Amino acid sequence: MYKTSVIGFPRIGENRELKKIVENFLKKEITKNELLKESSNIRKKHLNILKENSIDYITINDFSLYDNFLDTICLLGAIPKRYNELELDELDTYFAMAKGYQKNDKDVKALAMKKWFNTNYHYLVPELDKNISFNLNLKKILSEYKEAKDLEITPKISIIGPYTFLKLSNIKEGDLEDYINDIKEIYIELIQNLNKLDISYIQIEEPILVTDLNNKDIINFENIYKEILNVKEKKILLQTYFGDIRDIYENIIKLDFDAIGLDLIDGEYNFELIEKYGINNKEIFAGIVNGKNIFINDYKKSIEIIDRLGIENLVLSSSCSLLHLPFTIKNETSLDEKYKILLSFAVEKLIELRELKNILEFEDFENHNKYNENQKKIKSKQNLTEFLNNEVKEKVKNLKEEDFYRKEKFDERIKLQKKYLNLPKLPTTTIGSFPQTLEVRKIRNKYRKNEITKNKYNEFIYSKIEEVIKLQENLEIDVLVHGEFERTDMVEYFGENFEGFLITKNGWVQSYGTRCVKPPVIFGDISRKDSFTVEYIKYAQELTNKYVKGMLTGPITIINWSFVREDLSIRDIAYQIALALQDEVLDLEKSGIKVIQIDEAALREKLPLRKENWKEYLDIAIKAFRLTNSKVKADTQIHTHMCYSEFKDIINEIKELDADVITIEAAKSDLSMIDILNENNYDKEVGPGVYDIHSPRIPSVEEFETVINELTKKIEIEKLWINPDCGLKTRGNKETIESLRNMVVATKNIRKNL
Ligand code: GLN
Ligand code: ZN
Repeated sequence: MYKTSVIGFPRIGENRELKKIVENFLKKEITKNELLKESSNIRKKHLNILKENSIDYITINDFSLYDNFLDTICLLGAIPKRYNELELDELDTYFAMAKGYQKNDKDVKALAMKKWFNTNYHYLVPELDKNISFNLNLKKILSEYKEAKDLEITPKISIIGPYTFLKLSNIKEGDLEDYINDIKEIYIELIQNLNKLDISYIQIEEPILVTDLNNKDIINFENIYKEILNVKEKKILLQTYFGDIRDIYENIIKLDFDAIGLDLIDGEYNFELIEKYGINNKEIFAGIVNGKNIFINDYKKSIEIIDRLGIENLVLSSSCSLLHLPFTIKNETSLDEKYKILLSFAVEKLIELRELKNILEFEDFENHNKYNENQKKIKSKQNLTEFLNNEVKEKVKNLKEEDFYRKEKFDERIKLQKKYLNLPKLPTTTIGSFPQTLEVRKIRNKYRKNEITKNKYNEFIYSKIEEVIKLQENLEIDVLVHGEFERTDMVEYFGENFEGFLITKNGWVQSYGTRCVKPPVIFGDISRKDSFTVEYIKYAQELTNKYVKGMLTGPITIINWSFVREDLSIRDIAYQIALALQDEVLDLEKSGIKVIQIDEAALREKLPLRKENWKEYLDIAIKAFRLTNSKVKADTQIHTHMCYSEFKDIINEIKELDADVITIEAAKSDLSMIDILNENNYDKEVGPGVYDIHSPRIPSVEEFETVINELTKKIEIEKLWINPDCGLKTRGNKETIESLRNMVVATKNIRKNL
């Protein structure tokens, strides 16, 4: 007998309904009651979809108006004091934590946000200090429970586990251990309350278990759970995902959990753990349907996995919450059927679970029509010759060591570059994008809907380029950019222009709160047909005597912000993208562009969860980056940009990127990253962002002078660039212009004294 389960379902809605109602509520366009009613409708719709697909274990409390870590903060009553002091009602306090609160004399910033393991989702970070007194609030869970019961569903209730909660909290006072007793008590109370409900399982999620754990972690975990499990009257599922739980499996299997959920897609090693330590009569929730990627399940492979497990009474599950997937492939009306049949979004994953169960329960599965249908689809990919490119495959195969190195060493290159570019000391520049105002987005939408011609659209883009070049000349910035007005997104734009990608129309995935991203799909071999950035950059360059930077997105960032094919190694995919970028780099150079920036915004954030996997990932990332620009002339200057400054662990790899100039975030950090660069003899040029573009605040000239002076003390003047800490895309024009003006004035003032 098999059962089916999903860990969680995307809550943003088929057409991003949740985004819209929450935004409308925040704009005060709808009332609190309307928000609650509409969100209840969304949940009911989703519950019905799960029911229609005969999912045996349907989850509740996976829904959230903003973020389920924030919900957990409210569930446990762990609301930081400054939000309670606003004396708002529950919902307004909730959104104050999510978005910050500014009214009359009250001004409180939002909670910090962090990336959720290795996904592109962000959670709000709980804060723990001595003022915290936990206080259970079951309102949300109980109302979702009632909704499910009304639909005749006996639900499984999802809650974030105590250890993951603690480990991901920002502990402001004391140690994690200081909070264990309180956390234990509140979870005991929680379980005692859930005991009273008619539910199938309590799904306690502990993804932290897939990261590297030490002995202390294991002791803490056992300490907490032994007591929690003592009070349970309902079954408890310990749900893990995003990897294997090698450090703690042996301990867990001895604890009184009724079931364990394991990721068998990202957690290969879980098989060995089961083989070695057994399952101790627990029900196993086997994550075999990929909750993070959008390719259809290969039923043959899944059945092999299940055979390999050799467990009776298995629960077939998604590998993680389906939160990380778009809603349904059905709505991709512009995608050709032959591609669509190979893709599976959240709703289709439910169908896969249902079909797999039916096939497994059918005696002669190889004759099950759904099995055969699936295998036919899987094989059909081979016929999509438009996505095969043997030439690029050959090129990747024949890459030699020297293809990853620039001919001249940095010392030699930088001399030639300095001579050629002849820039003033402390050259000023920006990171690439200028404000994408409503005007820009409106015109692009019109173009998308075919309401204006490509020519008209381009005319508009060119006029924006003219504007932004003039602006930068007026501001007397030294190295200019074209503003990136033609790009909605720094990754999707490359997906649209390279061969080998599929672009969806409605493939939205929640990134945080009401923010969604629409990752392109790396579907086949990647190559570049024609240049696509050159015309814009060249146009910009011809308008000015100053240098304009060519602006590209690096291979590992493209991979990390896309859905990635599973039938080719990440290394090969990265090299294919790098070669396509190399074509573009060389074309830019040929057309006279002397400074080229290749952004690797997402390199650091996607480091693997376990340290032992870092080396391989970084090796791929660095080599792919180098491959993009290894063939440029010595006097062509290569820049890269990264949106962070946490380099401590990867400083050697950053050095190995061998970029002539690196611009990074520094405005928000305490400049300690510069010490790290110095301690490690970083010898290339650096542009530590001198102001935070994530806020509309305009720093004064004096403020800029202080920061720049500080920097000149730490970094050789000859190596220092002055720039904002990221692209200006999300800012308004006014604050952008004023901030940049002050930045340049301050730089000039300081130059005078050099
Ligand atoms: N060049 C990009 C921009 O300015 C970089 C964005 C980023 O680092 N996220 O928008
Ligand atoms: Zn950035």
